Amino acid sequence: MAEKMRAIFKEKPAPGLVMKQADVPTPGPRDVLVKILAASICGTDVHIYDWDEWSQKRVPPPIIIGHEFCGKVIEKGRDVTSLEIGDLISGETHLYCGLCYQCRTGDAHICKNVKLRGVDTTGCFSDYHVVPENTAWKNDPKISPEVLSAQEPLGNAVFTVFSGEVAGKTILIMGCGPIGVCAAALCHQAGAEKVISVDLKEFRLKMAKEMGADVVLNAGEEDVVKRVMNETDGEGVDVFLEMAGSPKAFKQGMDSLKPGGRVSLLGIYKKPFEVDVTNDIVFKAPVIHGINGRKLWDTWYKARAFMRSGRIDLNKIITHRIKFDDFEKGFQIMKSGECGKVVMKL
Ligand SMILES: [Zn+2]
Ligand SMILES: [Zn+2]
Repeated sequence: MAEKMRAIFKEKPAPGLVMKQADVPTPGPRDVLVKILAASICGTDVHIYDWDEWSQKRVPPPIIIGHEFCGKVIEKGRDVTSLEIGDLISGETHLYCGLCYQCRTGDAHICKNVKLRGVDTTGCFSDYHVVPENTAWKNDPKISPEVLSAQEPLGNAVFTVFSGEVAGKTILIMGCGPIGVCAAALCHQAGAEKVISVDLKEFRLKMAKEMGADVVLNAGEEDVVKRVMNETDGEGVDVFLEMAGSPKAFKQGMDSLKPGGRVSLLGIYKKPFEVDVTNDIVFKAPVIHGINGRKLWDTWYKARAFMRSGRIDLNKIITHRIKFDDFEKGFQIMKSGECGKVVMKL
């Protein structure tokens, strides 16, 4: 067993990341130690790379970042009962306490004491990583580690899409990042009447189309609200999924929504913004859901079902597979927006 490992650190409170040697961690009685096989770069990691306002307030350097992974269990603590050496696992990013009101009433994803892997506490961008048993998800070994490392955004999409009815509905999805395109695929598979996906990048719109969007539109070139109204016989969409994190996209979505429709918000906004509460909420009377993470563990079972049945092929959203040592390149690709999922192989 090696004593040292490679790890990607946010070392100082400033932009950028560095790869450094670190000690291989030791699992506690209820943890497992995994050898990471593949890890995906998430938008959250890019925020931390850039050291934006949000990460400055939240992330405590020096810290190993990263939360999307697939690894093999190589050591287990004495009290671990549900996992064996050799199991292929991923992990829920929300490390929950299991004891607070939310955890005890089935809402562990919004645990009052939640710690996010690779944000508040040690992340997985390293050769080895310790995973608490209660946040480990045992994978189907028939699926490749790269795909398994990218199932977290599928989970976000599953939770958002199925927070309300989909079959027979018209759906507007703002944002065609990996979560947005997974959402388009899920809506299509679940029997939506029409899925309209919106983004500013042609590359991403093409991916949305391939994954199942019926209509794709470039918000930089077209009047989104007008087009959505045309596509829905002037009624507006039944469901609006906000996955862009842009106030403009939020407003366009609200203006495209049928009165009484459903809005599920997953996008993260850089700062507070103004909302027309009177017209868009009081008078329009939508049902609004805030979506945080994945429902434990309901979302994970559903995501696995979509992967195992072949209805969702995450290979289609993995656009770049790079070596772990080339992480810097991976972050630059992510920043360009000309990509789906960027997966690092270890
Ligand atoms: Zn993520
Ligand atoms: Zn809790």
